[in-house]
Amino acid sequence: MGTIPIDELILSRRKTIALVVQPDGRLLVRAPLRTNRNLIDAFITSKTDWIEKTRQMQHARRKSIPRHHFVEGEQFWYLGQQFPLRLVPPKRPALQFDLAFVLSENALPQARKRFEDWYREQARLYLTERVAYFAQCYNFNYQKVKITSARTRWGSCSARGTINFAWRLIMAPPEIIDYVILHELSHTVHHNHSQSFWSLVLSMVPDYTAKRKWLKQHSQQFHWE
Ligand SMILES: [Zn+2]
Repeated sequence: MGTIPIDELILSRRKTIALVVQPDGRLLVRAPLRTNRNLIDAFITSKTDWIEKTRQMQHARRKSIPRHHFVEGEQFWYLGQQFPLRLVPPKRPALQFDLAFVLSENALPQARKRFEDWYREQARLYLTERVAYFAQCYNFNYQKVKITSARTRWGSCSARGTINFAWRLIMAPPEIIDYVILHELSHTVHHNHSQSFWSLVLSMVPDYTAKRKWLKQHSQQFHWE
């Protein structure tokens, strides 16, 4: 059995050899300057199982991310429901929502961008209003709402009270969005995940553990590839 080939080797003033399996499966090796190549190969051989397991996991993850092809009838999420795509002869605006996503045919080459822009705008309108509503209900102070492209987190709150949300959040059901909003607003009071933080969340969202679980289970579904 041969050694797994290296896709990229970076030599630098470091003291140990490190292996990184990149999201696309490529093997990156970092090693100290003037490391003997046999030593690197032996190291890789000793990590064969780990490399293969990591590659399999990444492959499974990539496959579970839904890919959009922008064909007639394809379903797209919005506020926890799926709506079909309808392609229509050239018109303006290029993308409209009418219980279906109505996309102008000549906008197909930029379909991904059109959708992202549309989701972003809906996220901005919806979340800005909803945050203001909850802040008033529960007496929270915050600076402003920002919509981000974050991929791994749904929301965050800066020390200065800016509340950030990933635009993808607008694909989730309203009750899940409410939980994320109340979670981030609670961070304006507790800038951590302490017991007091969770007690505050609990007082507003009694079933927050179910909501957290839902977000964990569905996070792939709202990725955008
Ligand atoms: Zn948090």
